[in-house]
Amino acid sequence: MIYNVAGLLTGKLGDIQQHEIENESLKSNGRSLRKINGSVRLMRTDRTVLVNADVEATTHDSCSRCLEPATANVIVNMEEEFSPTNADLVSGPNNRTADEDYYYDPALVIDEQNFLDLTEGLGQALLSAIPIAPVCKDDCLGICPICTVNRNILQCSCAKSSVDPRWAGLVGLLEKGAKSAE
Ligand SMILES: [Zn+2]
Ligand SMILES: [Zn+2]
Repeated sequence: MIYNVAGLLTGKLGDIQQHEIENESLKSNGRSLRKINGSVRLMRTDRTVLVNADVEATTHDSCSRCLEPATANVIVNMEEEFSPTNADLVSGPNNRTADEDYYYDPALVIDEQNFLDLTEGLGQALLSAIPIAPVCKDDCLGICPICTVNRNILQCSCAKSSVDPRWAGLVGLLEKGAKSAE
């Protein structure tokens, strides 16, 4: 996922490069993202390269219901501007004032050899798109909140009790109250 954008930087405004990502993988923040597939469009703006990436990937996670390993699908539509280290390539004679104070995210910089490395920026985008509550399967039955058995594997008898355990204490109080009122 490293692209030579020298041609874009020395080209015209609005020039486009198109790339496909096929079955790539990367690591971001200790997390493995695999089966990365999708398309990348690089477009020359006045002083940067605008990256549009439509990408799908998978990552290992735990099921939010039963805590067993689960594979989460991650879908991302990334749009970021990458700034060239060789700013003189894109700033013409009328555009000479390179503002030194401008903050460049190091993940979004095109290096001295004019290579744009998408790995880190895409990794960050994918990380932030990991689903909050992945499931091992759509109909995962989860863990019984009363006896903590994995209900995909074992059927417990707790299900017969219709009282949500969070309310069990309250029900007890109500029963007590009803008795003392008798
Ligand atoms: Zn599950
Ligand atoms: Zn149970």
